[in-house]
Amino acid sequence: MIDIASIRNDFPILQKEVHGKPLVYFDNAATTQKPRVVVERIENGYYNVNANIHRGVHYLSQAATEAHEEARKTVQRFLHASSPNEIIFTRGTTEAINLVASSFTDACMSEGDEVIISVMEHHSNIVPWQLQAARKGITLKVVPINPRGELCLDTFRELFTERTRLVSLVHMSNVLGTVNPIKEIIEEAHAHDVPVLVDGAQSVPHIRVDVTELDADFYVFSGHKIYGPTGIGVLYGKEEWLDRLPPYQGGGEMIATVSFEKTTFNELPFKFEAGTPDYIGSTALAEALRYVGRIGLAEIAAYEHELLVYMTERLKEFEGMRIFGEAAQKGAVVSFLLREIHPYDMGMLLDRLGIAVRTGHHCAQPLMQALGIEGTVRASLSFYNTKEEIDRFIAGIRRVEQMF
Ligand code: PMP
Repeated sequence: MIDIASIRNDFPILQKEVHGKPLVYFDNAATTQKPRVVVERIENGYYNVNANIHRGVHYLSQAATEAHEEARKTVQRFLHASSPNEIIFTRGTTEAINLVASSFTDACMSEGDEVIISVMEHHSNIVPWQLQAARKGITLKVVPINPRGELCLDTFRELFTERTRLVSLVHMSNVLGTVNPIKEIIEEAHAHDVPVLVDGAQSVPHIRVDVTELDADFYVFSGHKIYGPTGIGVLYGKEEWLDRLPPYQGGGEMIATVSFEKTTFNELPFKFEAGTPDYIGSTALAEALRYVGRIGLAEIAAYEHELLVYMTERLKEFEGMRIFGEAAQKGAVVSFLLREIHPYDMGMLLDRLGIAVRTGHHCAQPLMQALGIEGTVRASLSFYNTKEEIDRFIAGIRRVEQMF
């Protein structure tokens, strides 16, 4: 059971007033708020354990190194990866996808090779591949969706050719909320001997992820969407793949030896972590993962599902309400349009009532084109949200409706 009063107490920002009204924060898909333990961990890191890590002989450097490597192990356990060498710290999902796109293309693709993505991808799982397409002449194949916002799996199966080198798909859509059958997708891809990258930016905060059970080849997520700090994220990669791929960036930390004649690269995971890593961010991320673990992902999923069902029912009370994405498997994200009310107007007016939602294309313009719209209003929930907040949100939409 979720102890909502105690949880809300952990997030000081939730007590805030916005425009004189208590804040209702429904923009969790963009970023989540931070519990006290995470902020305190950052503070404690800078006050007590701050020194550049690796190779330091002095106490503070060793303590900081230990904390950073312990954080890697926390991430490893969280994802159920088999080795800490499979956990690469990045700046976030976007950087992790760019890393794979760049290194995988260099090592494994040539002109005419194909990558399968889907129409529901975030720009960060489209544009890195387009950059590689321009550089190396690879081709993108796009899986469409059905009217409920689910991937068309029959079409997906037909997209494989002998030139398919990688499948790169989102686990949970940041617009539709659709949770894709990623295990089935990975099985299908592996039957064609094709590895799979999973964009877990939206799934990891809401669904228990076991990369070993999924047999994912690459799995990426961002710290800030799972109650951790901004500027840190994770690339999980099977060791055999990471070993095969060339470094993404050059610099300190990622080398074994450097001379002007020849440089050799460090072993995993350091080969992919050029420069001073965010060793404060990594430990704060680990703290966030422990926090989520204490509440329990099964409890989180059950409670958020209850909120999703309630919000969806209440939104359907409005005449002229269009909800985008009604997948059988759906996370707590609702994108909608009410009659002809522009999403921007809805977002602005709700903000005056202290209610934070996101409006626009949500970094998924190709999906908007497929839906034949320019944008939506999006309310995305967390385990710290409540039915009372949903009631205030519904009352807010009623007020906006009356103004039009
Ligand atoms: N993929 C998805 C599905 C997302 O929702 C987001 C963030 N909105 C990203 C990727 C990019 O994450 P970040 O900006 O943290 O790199």
